[in-house]
Amino acid sequence: MKRILTGDTPTGKLHLGHFVGTLENRAKLQNEYEIFILFADTHALTTLSSSPKLIADYTREVLLDNLSVGLDPKNVTFFAESAIPQIYEIAAIFSMYVSHNRALRNPTIKDEIISKGLGDQFSLGFINYPIYQAADILCVKGQLVPVGKDQEAHLEQTREIAREINKLTGFDIFPEPQALIGRVGKLVGTDGNPKMGKSLNNTIYLSDSKEEVEKKVMNMYTDPNRIHPTDPGKVEGNPVFIYLDNFSPGKDKDKIEEYKDKYRKGQVGDVEVKKFLVDVLNEFLGPIRERRETYKNKPDLLASILEEGNSKVRKISTETLEELKQKLGFAF
Ligand code: ATP
Ligand code: MG
Repeated sequence: MKRILTGDTPTGKLHLGHFVGTLENRAKLQNEYEIFILFADTHALTTLSSSPKLIADYTREVLLDNLSVGLDPKNVTFFAESAIPQIYEIAAIFSMYVSHNRALRNPTIKDEIISKGLGDQFSLGFINYPIYQAADILCVKGQLVPVGKDQEAHLEQTREIAREINKLTGFDIFPEPQALIGRVGKLVGTDGNPKMGKSLNNTIYLSDSKEEVEKKVMNMYTDPNRIHPTDPGKVEGNPVFIYLDNFSPGKDKDKIEEYKDKYRKGQVGDVEVKKFLVDVLNEFLGPIRERRETYKNKPDLLASILEEGNSKVRKISTETLEELKQKLGFAF
């Protein structure tokens, strides 16, 4: 079986963007691939450096999010980055093969510096993250990586490292992993920001209650130029219609087209379309909420899922590290 490796940064709970960007593909492929899901808790320190205790809570929440979209712990290995010391040894070796300039040229890193307002106040760990990520993926020799569009540049870095090490040693130690971008590579936020992001406060969480969904949708950004329901409205790029298109079951298709037509002609108000979206999202989230309930009050089960995953990955990554060192001639 080929291997999938992907993961989440436990800096907050998972949202609709994560669903269409990566979670959906994880669930779909769980029977065809051996799947590893990493929680990048050490990496989360780049965002939560002053409150590290929150990261463990978020790790449990994010595990719950993954289980609630239908990932079966019998098929999937979940593990925490901080529990696998081999990752950092592999990353240290990798970092010798990445130039400082190459690390700074990463477009996702550049975007995040701007979108998160980091200025020149970012850590070395933040800049190095694509190298740690290469170690996250390659410690289990992951071949396919279901991710959102913002991760494409990181994957390119991983491939470069794999290629370079293979060429250097003359052995096929590492695969060159491929990105699998989700149905929506980058889902827009409720505020119209091109990315729904857990650090951007523009999310609808998979764990939101019906009431929270309603509140967030009713406050959503739509067409800023439309003041009255009789004004012709813009459908393209309007987050309300983007969510309708992406989270409604096929049966609503005609109704959505009708709303789009009326919206363009100024024949329907924002409130009516938003109320419809509330129903659509609550229907979509129904089964996810139900699955979450079945796992929520089982802290021992959640802990043992992670414990088993950690120990499995420690074993695999020890073998990978030993192989790498041996091929580099480090036989001490
Ligand atoms: P942070 O701001 O802390 O980086 P994030 O919202 O980007 O948080 P991550 O844990 O970094 O979340 O991302 C997990 C996965 O979800 C990645 O594969 C990422 O590409 C994908 N993803 C995140 N946000 C979106 C989005 N809005 N649309 C599609 N995919 C997304
Ligand atoms: Mg991110």
